[in-house]
Order: sequence, then C-alpha cells, then structure tokens
Amino acid sequence: MQFEPINSELGDDNLFHQLLDSAPDAIVIIDNDGRISLINHMTEQMFGYERSELIGQPIEILMPERFRNRHHQHRQAYFAASSTRPMGTGLELFAQRKDGSDFPVEISLSPLQTSTGQLVTAVVRDITERQQARKDLEQHAQDLERSNAELEQFAYVASHDLQEPLRMVASYAQLLERRYRDKLDVDAEEFIDYIVDGASRMQNLINDLLAFSRVGTRGNVLEPTDANNAVMRAINNLQIAIEESDATITHDDLPAVIADSMQLVQLFQNLISNALKFHGDLAPVVHISARHDGDNVVFAVVDQGIGIEPQYAERIFQLFQRLHGKKEYPGTGIGLAICKKIVERANGQIWLESEIDKGSSFYFTLPADI
Ligand code: ADP
Repeated sequence: MQFEPINSELGDDNLFHQLLDSAPDAIVIIDNDGRISLINHMTEQMFGYERSELIGQPIEILMPERFRNRHHQHRQAYFAASSTRPMGTGLELFAQRKDGSDFPVEISLSPLQTSTGQLVTAVVRDITERQQARKDLEQHAQDLERSNAELEQFAYVASHDLQEPLRMVASYAQLLERRYRDKLDVDAEEFIDYIVDGASRMQNLINDLLAFSRVGTRGNVLEPTDANNAVMRAINNLQIAIEESDATITHDDLPAVIADSMQLVQLFQNLISNALKFHGDLAPVVHISARHDGDNVVFAVVDQGIGIEPQYAERIFQLFQRLHGKKEYPGTGIGLAICKKIVERANGQIWLESEIDKGSSFYFTLPADI
C-alpha cells in the first residue's frame, strides 16, 4: 500500500526533501499515531527497505521485536510531553533492518508542529563502528592492564626466586676467597674477585627490581601525607652517605599532598641519593622546594652536580637506562624508573630540567591535600 506523506507542508517542499536526502543520518518523521510519514534516502540505505515499504507503517517496524511493546508506551509519553532530546538516555538502543538483523543506534527526537498536527522527527545514527572502536579500545586497555600485571608478577617472582641461588653463589665465592687466598695463583684470585663483584652487582639489581615491582603490588593507600615528614625521613635514611660526601641538603616548608607516605619517602630518597652520587668536584648541594599549581603541588629537587644532557631527559626514567659506566658511578639504572612509577601511581608526573655541568632539577607533581 502506498501512502502519500500526510502533510503537504512537508511533502511538497523540494528543497526540504533534498536537504533530508543529503543528511548523513537516517531521518524518520512519524505522525501522532506512530506511523511513518516521511523518510530520507539514508533510511532506505540503513534499513534496507524501499521508501514505499515504510511509509504508513508503525515506527516499531524499524526496531527489534523485543523492544516493540514497550516502545508503544514510550511513544505516547513522548507525544504528551515532547521536547528535543536524545532517546533512551543511558540505554543501549538498537534498530532492525529489513533482513531481521539489528544494529546499535543513537536516536535524537524532536517535535515538529504542523498545521495538521504534531509530528516527531527521529534522527537515527548507526553507531556500529563507533561502538566497535570503543569496545576495541576497552579490550586493548584491559589487555594492557593484564599484561602489565603479569609482567609485574613475573618481575616479582623472578627477582624473589633468584635471590636465594644468587646468595649461595656469592657466599661460596666469598668463602673460596677467604679460605684459599694463599693457596691459589694470582689469576684464580682475580677470577674469584670477578665472581664476587658480579654476584654483588646482581644482588643489587635484583633488590632494585624487587623494589620496582613492589611499587605496584605492595603500595599503600593514597592519603594526605606531610611532605616535610617524608623529606626528613629520606634524609635520615641517607645520613651516612650525606656525612661521607659532606653534602648540604636544605628544604622549604613543604605542603601536604595525597600520596602513599612510604613511597613518598622512597621517592625523595632516590632523588636525593642521585644528587649525592652525581655531584662532580664540589660537595653535593641539594635544595627541595614546592609550589602550588591548581590542584597540584609541583616539587623540585635541585642539585648543582654534573647535570644531564637534555636529549636524555626522558630516557633516564626508563628501566636500566644509565648514562655512565659502573666504574665511574655505581648503580643499576632502576632508581628513576621507581620514581616515575611512584609518581604515576599517585596521579602525578615527573620530569627533568638539566644542563651538563649546571646541575639537575627533578620536578614532580602530586595532588595537593585540599
Ligand atoms: P642509577 O642511579 O642506579 O644509575 P637511576 O635510574 O637513578 O639509576 O638514574 C639513571 C641515570 O640518570 C644515572 O645513571 C645518571 O646517568 C642519571 N642521573 C640520575 N640522577 C642524576 C643527577 N642528579 N645528576 C646527574 N645525572 C643523574
């Protein structure tokens, strides 16, 4: 049965039709009996019907069976109190093609007053691709989270289980060194030294790797934390290194932030101990300050040491990245990776400003305690 558009104001206007047909969304106009009175070209394409098959049909023909009954009531309610709005806010909406398959849609409704009565325009957008992209993204994020957790678990188990056999290698090599020092030739003594040195470096690596994996797995809650207290505890833990290097460490009065208090100590401790280590010819001088920036606090740990070439400013925060040989400056290249992990876990960022021979300024943000 072929229906003519019920309203000549709509039906006769050529320009109006052209406009509708060039729209990228399906546009369906229904009368107050819920029957389709006008559609555009996109509706035919999207739903697989000929125009003549739809005109005069109840709008429910375009939705899956399972929604049809309830839709009848919704439609009446909309006509009673119509306004321009999205349909089914917060719900997942589906439309049905002629072949019975359904697809996700977004629909916005607007009332249209004409001389012959009230109509409703429904603009229907096929969101299959958008939804698929969102699902892919969600899946990707989940996969990433899982693989991060697995990696963290692996690092933890591996470093934890490696400790014991390594301890054995180290202690027996030391025993050999002590008991057989006079009975072995010079070469053998040198080889034993290498074993002892290698084992002790590996122990440091494993300990640092464990500390790195514990940032994620053994963290405490993020809570209001006094940064002065964290700096004081970090300085206290570094007392011997500070005295040995004759360092001067000062800090301003620091604000409270939202952080894991143990990890905040670890963060300051790593940054200060790097400043103690990479100090160049003069005794280390370190100053710690902070300023508010919106809802965050920006901390600065500033030294006057050997500095870092700006091109390495990002790389040094990665695991095992070091700019110096182990003879020049001992270390594992894990300290700053731990710092980054601590800061990011507490919703902050960390970066560096430095120039060779001009000292380094490490900055990090943490949410202020307000
Ligand atoms: P480690 O100190 O064990 O080498 P880190 O991850 O703490 O590992 O630091 C990585 C590298 O960044 C260091 O090897 C050093 O080259 C550079 N670095 C870190 N802190 C400083 C600093 N305060 N001054 C100069 N260089 C630094």
